Amino acid sequence: EFSLKKAKRMGKNNIYFYRQEDYEKFQRNGRIISALRSSIANGCEGFEVYYQPIVDCVSGRVIGAEALMRYTMVTEEGKEWLSPVEFIPLLEKSGLIIPAGRFVLNEAAKMCREIQQYIPEFRVNVNISYYQIEHGKIADKILTAVRDNGLTPDRICIEMTESGFMDMTPVFCKFRKVLEENGIQFVIDDFGTGYSNLVRVLEYPVDVIKLDKSIVWSAFQNRDSFVTLKNLISMFHDVHRKIVAEGIESEEQMNMLKKLECDYLQGYFYSKPIDKDAFISYVQHNQKYN
Ligand code: C2E
Ligand code: CA
Ligand code: CA
Repeated sequence: EFSLKKAKRMGKNNIYFYRQEDYEKFQRNGRIISALRSSIANGCEGFEVYYQPIVDCVSGRVIGAEALMRYTMVTEEGKEWLSPVEFIPLLEKSGLIIPAGRFVLNEAAKMCREIQQYIPEFRVNVNISYYQIEHGKIADKILTAVRDNGLTPDRICIEMTESGFMDMTPVFCKFRKVLEENGIQFVIDDFGTGYSNLVRVLEYPVDVIKLDKSIVWSAFQNRDSFVTLKNLISMFHDVHRKIVAEGIESEEQMNMLKKLECDYLQGYFYSKPIDKDAFISYVQHNQKYN
């Protein structure tokens, strides 16, 4: 039955050869989706939001954070921590990304309000899947989260990968317009990975471009990539885009990006994503020493 379904999904005139690993993956995905579904029915039990600092390149001060979803699955054998790389696509596939994404958005907005007592200009970045735009009335949810937490709209930034909106569908354009009218910043995530198309990125009305870690790492390792990165940064600055570099893991990488006049930095060198309490301590410490 599994093989037949798989072959049908491949389209007409195709042959699928049964592989045990595929079947096991299929079964595991089914188990994860039902765990996700029951967690959400129980008030998002098992879901958490972690925060990773985003730092100003010149001053070294924390100016914001990226909110990242975490999930611990409860099974008969015990608890299992899952990577977002595994469970986010399943949330998208099952439509559960709508309630789960709303949970992240509300937690992040609440946390942003709390951090403002330490850093008045603090912003929080929230990742959005295309599915949430298409089916989740996400623009309204963002505005409600802003209002309910006494924030100004410019305190929330929305991150999306380019793969999510390549086609500029009417529903995406409308979403983008609502953000723009309300002063909510839009960030292109993972720039430099498979989907990026330079010309189109320059045409999009985006405020911030987030360079993927692969670009940062290869610029650190070879000269041609370094020159490319240098020119990319200067070109984006010429068209008034701000730039965040992701995946900063060492002091040397930090210094390289500083030299290239990148605007903001993010990566394990500063901190891994951490829970809210750890993040508040991190911020207090950062305030004291910067
Ligand atoms: P992303 O948006 O590109 O998030 C950055 C990922 O890079 C995070 O992985 C973060 O832990 C990791 N990272 C940060 N700094 C470093 C570093 O210096 N070195 C290395 N090696 N890695 C670093 P994470 O948390 O596993 O998230 C994976 C992806 O899951 C995210 O990639 C994002 O696409 C998705 N995701 C996470 N939370 C959400 C969410 O709330 N909604 C949606 N739609 N997607 C989410
Ligand atoms: Ca992101
Ligand atoms: Ca990214």
